[in-house]
Amino acid sequence: MTTGEKLLASILDAPGASGGRRLFGLLNQELTVVLGEFSLPPYRIRQLESALYRQRVTGLEAVSAWPKDLREKVAAAGFEVGQPRIVETFRSVDGTERYLIAGDDGQTVETVWMPEGDGGDDDDLSEPGPSGYPGQRGWSRGTICVSSQIGCAVNCQFCLTARLGIIRNLSVGEIAGQVAAVLNRQQAEPGRDRINLVFMGMGEPFLNYDAFMGAVRLLAGAMGIPESRMTVSTSGIVPGILRFAEEPVRPRLAISLNASNDAVRETIMPITRKWNIAEVIDAVRKVPLRARERVTFEYVLLGGVNDRIGHADEVVRLVRRANFPAKVNLIAWNPGPDVPFTTPGEEDVARFQQRLRQQGIPAFVRRPRGRDIYAACGQLRKTVAPAAGPDLAAIRKI
Ligand code: SF4
Repeated sequence: MTTGEKLLASILDAPGASGGRRLFGLLNQELTVVLGEFSLPPYRIRQLESALYRQRVTGLEAVSAWPKDLREKVAAAGFEVGQPRIVETFRSVDGTERYLIAGDDGQTVETVWMPEGDGGDDDDLSEPGPSGYPGQRGWSRGTICVSSQIGCAVNCQFCLTARLGIIRNLSVGEIAGQVAAVLNRQQAEPGRDRINLVFMGMGEPFLNYDAFMGAVRLLAGAMGIPESRMTVSTSGIVPGILRFAEEPVRPRLAISLNASNDAVRETIMPITRKWNIAEVIDAVRKVPLRARERVTFEYVLLGGVNDRIGHADEVVRLVRRANFPAKVNLIAWNPGPDVPFTTPGEEDVARFQQRLRQQGIPAFVRRPRGRDIYAACGQLRKTVAPAAGPDLAAIRKI
């Protein structure tokens, strides 16, 4: 079996949310195959694809371009749309929403909606959509933070998701479905609204490469979100970066760096023992960048660990040696229960940023979004109820 055939088989094996044969996640040719018993002409398949991904219908009865008897026949054969459902919503005082979205097996995955973004995606090469004003909805653009796995195997020491270990990979439909579910909830329309996607939720996308890239193709093609408005963050999985470099359609790339040298990085990101910083940067050099595109280095500042001026100077040298267009996104560490780090003071963050900027390195501070509901970077751990600590007490479930 080729990789593509294996992927298709896994999609077809996955039951829908109510045990039916799920159509969400399948594209043109795959839909033609699974609906083969109905001998549908290509235009009927295109109508279905448009209903699934442009109109984002949640039931076959809403596929209005199809005659009623066809919808009923397909439903009677056990097919269903199977768009992933939001089963729980937590809303932050800053407008951020964190969702638990039901997977095929009852496991939940986390997705975050950030109206107005977080300050780290201000150069996404795109223009504001025609609705570039807040209007009644209170936002003029939004960012969806998407998960690629349930849990994560990479074991970054500062990350709550790491505590889960890896539970399983998400399928194409489960990854793209997070976006569809959030767009529906926010009544947002790609094309009309400026929507950015960041694959920075739970999991390491490059350890679920085929499903992740399958979802990117679906989102860019069928759902109409330009890949230039998507960013994927990797902890530095070199074989994944090398495959990514060959992709004709791909998001922008962010490297989760978090340390200025291998010695510090090994202590907080054990993956460094497999691929060190130099190897990661060599792989990134192979990615052909688009005009005005920059690679992002994500840098979580941990009080007393990697936030000193000497570390900033090392980051400057590292970015200069990399010698490709790059910027640094600084994120003050977001606290989690039983994670033994401290959040640096605002003045330390500002000093670090200033040092980078003084030496010509573009550096931005990502605003923490949804810290109070455990939606911020590194905080996604299927937290469903106030459990411990002052921050969790502020969780607002709606
Ligand atoms: S920071 Fe990302 S790669 Fe590291 S453990 Fe957390 S989810 Fe995995």
